[in-house]
Amino acid sequence: MAITPLMPVYPRCGVRPVRGEGVYLIGERGERYLDFASGIAVNLLGHGHPHLTKAIADQAATLMHVSNLYGSPQGEALAQRLVDNSFADTVFFTNSGAEAVECAIKTARRYHFAGGDTHKTTLITFKNAFHGRTIGTISATDQEKLRSGFEPLLPGFKVVEFDNLEAAKAAVDDSTAGFLVEPVQGEGGIRPASQAFMQGLRRICDERDLMLVLDEVQCGVARTGTLYAYEHYGIEPDILASAKGIGGGFPMGACLATEKAARGMVIGTHGSTYGGNPLAMAAGQAVLDVVLEPGFLEHVQQMGDRLRQALEQMIPNHDHLFDSVRGLGLMLGIKLKSDSRAFVAHLRDQHGLLTVAAGDNVVRILPPLVIDESHIAECIEKLSAGARDYAPAQAA
Ligand SMILES: *Cc1c(COP(=O)(O)O)cnc(C)c1O
Repeated sequence: MAITPLMPVYPRCGVRPVRGEGVYLIGERGERYLDFASGIAVNLLGHGHPHLTKAIADQAATLMHVSNLYGSPQGEALAQRLVDNSFADTVFFTNSGAEAVECAIKTARRYHFAGGDTHKTTLITFKNAFHGRTIGTISATDQEKLRSGFEPLLPGFKVVEFDNLEAAKAAVDDSTAGFLVEPVQGEGGIRPASQAFMQGLRRICDERDLMLVLDEVQCGVARTGTLYAYEHYGIEPDILASAKGIGGGFPMGACLATEKAARGMVIGTHGSTYGGNPLAMAAGQAVLDVVLEPGFLEHVQQMGDRLRQALEQMIPNHDHLFDSVRGLGLMLGIKLKSDSRAFVAHLRDQHGLLTVAAGDNVVRILPPLVIDESHIAECIEKLSAGARDYAPAQAA
């Protein structure tokens, strides 16, 4: 048999982590890595955070799973907390980002259905977006590498240029249900939307009774220095998908919506066996305990500013390699003048620094939000050393 027991869909690298300690990952041979990838923006509190691990252990011993057929004091409490701290009036819990986006898409379509506008089914989405790997969420993107071989995909999506308000406006027709957009594109290369774009989408939605659906799976939950990234834009969405950081490493997601947007999501319209189980709710509460503590968001903003300044100071010293820095808060990217995947591998293998490659030759810098100045200094040191001894041609 030639196929590996783990279905070979990932190009797995040589790092094989077996333990995590705060901002560090430890490999099978005891080697240490500075983890500025955070499992792709997941481990907000780093690894082994005592409050999160205790909450999960205690809840696992008390009650792990019950069906959504029963009342959920744990789900009600976490939903209430998200409602109290966001635009939303109601929350559906999922187990992943793609499921949160699926619920968001269904909620948007069902809004129009409930209003009698059964023809308003199309979401306008954006080039280089990433919304997950289900049939529905790959249908929402134009990325060939995600779609190829999985056709027929779902109708009901129209893809236009990101951050181009005129293109978005021109795409609206009588079948439009709304827009689905990442306020900061993650996989697409850490590209924050402009203020004018996000505010313009909101305005179009208000004028034409459309749903503004945000995919904040990567940029949400304090990553950009606000609980959700829409807060930077002075607007509120109708529907929002959250995941990744929301469980701090425990698999969970959430679809948030206003009362108006959720008018079609009545009994029997949606469901999930695991979604919102007590164990996930305990993880979500523990993450929010830390993130909503006074001073935490300020800490993220401050660390984001320091890291960004340090990156901006560093890049002119290596201008054969680095082009520019972009992002918001602790969701940062360095645009390279050559392939970012090879440089990410070099940093990992030669300098013990974990980052993530993204589209547009960007190296994503996504540290746990609990970093301090010493981790920033260590990251800059490793990046500079990596840039000095990097020869693109010979890197694997
Ligand atoms: C990661 C991601 C998803 C998919 O999340 P999964 O948990 O892998 O299903 C969706 N949207 C965005 C913006 C993401 O970054």
